[in-house]
Amino acid sequence: MTKGSASGEVLRRAAERLTSTSSTPRLDAELLLAHALGVSREALLLRLDSEVPAAFEALLQRRLAHEPVAYITGTRSFWTLDLHVTPAVLIPRPDSETLIEAAIAHFDSAGPATVLDLGTGSGALLLAALDQWPGAWGLGVDRSRAAIDLARGNAERLRFGGRARFVKGSWGDALDGQFDLILCNPPYVEDGAELAPDVAEYEPGSALFAGPEGLDDYRVLAPQLARLLAPGGLVALEIGSTQRESVSALMQVEEFSVRCRQDLAGRDRCLELRRD
Ligand code: GLN
Repeated sequence: MTKGSASGEVLRRAAERLTSTSSTPRLDAELLLAHALGVSREALLLRLDSEVPAAFEALLQRRLAHEPVAYITGTRSFWTLDLHVTPAVLIPRPDSETLIEAAIAHFDSAGPATVLDLGTGSGALLLAALDQWPGAWGLGVDRSRAAIDLARGNAERLRFGGRARFVKGSWGDALDGQFDLILCNPPYVEDGAELAPDVAEYEPGSALFAGPEGLDDYRVLAPQLARLLAPGGLVALEIGSTQRESVSALMQVEEFSVRCRQDLAGRDRCLELRRD
């Protein structure tokens, strides 16, 4: 596992060592080695005879201690984008792409003119929507200053320029006006729930936990979403896979019509809220 071994063999052995830590050991090994070499994963896979830098072993040790790959490399792919991430924000998950699919099904190519992302974190949902619809403008809100700085950096690096703005705030408290598309992935894990060590030990608890039933933030959000959604618009709201009924009930109080969309694993993941 040191300088001198060809990367193909090093990858095979690293993936083997990662099998008890990760459900995607080969992918993790590839991403870490590409990071150590300073190349893309695609470039790495085209040149499996490159020399492996000694620094790779240190990265592997971090992953073996359950640190998520995205925090080690500082990047994560989401939808069409490569985002920078830090431990100040939740790592964007493929599950959350279900919200973008819901928005595409609702707006199609016409797209929303305005997008609001409540609890934007790295900016993943907002920037994915803006990438989808080049005519759209959007606002990302987060309680965390570090998240706002990171999301703004992502927007600038990915050249969303004047189309993305970010403000520090608590959900929609300080906002007025209405938005065509509202995206929101709030914390929804029950306090005290047992999470995988990768999540529990590394990701921000403030982005995960939401009271004894995981519903605290949905209670705050329900009336705000009703106030902030423009006529004909859509709220795409992420939920935990067992929360379809409980969150639907909270949203129906605000006279939303509610549909549920499943993620790629077939689990309930996104409530689609409309008011017409
Ligand atoms: N889906 C995340 C997890 O299970 C939770 C994300 C959230 O609370 N918004 O780790």
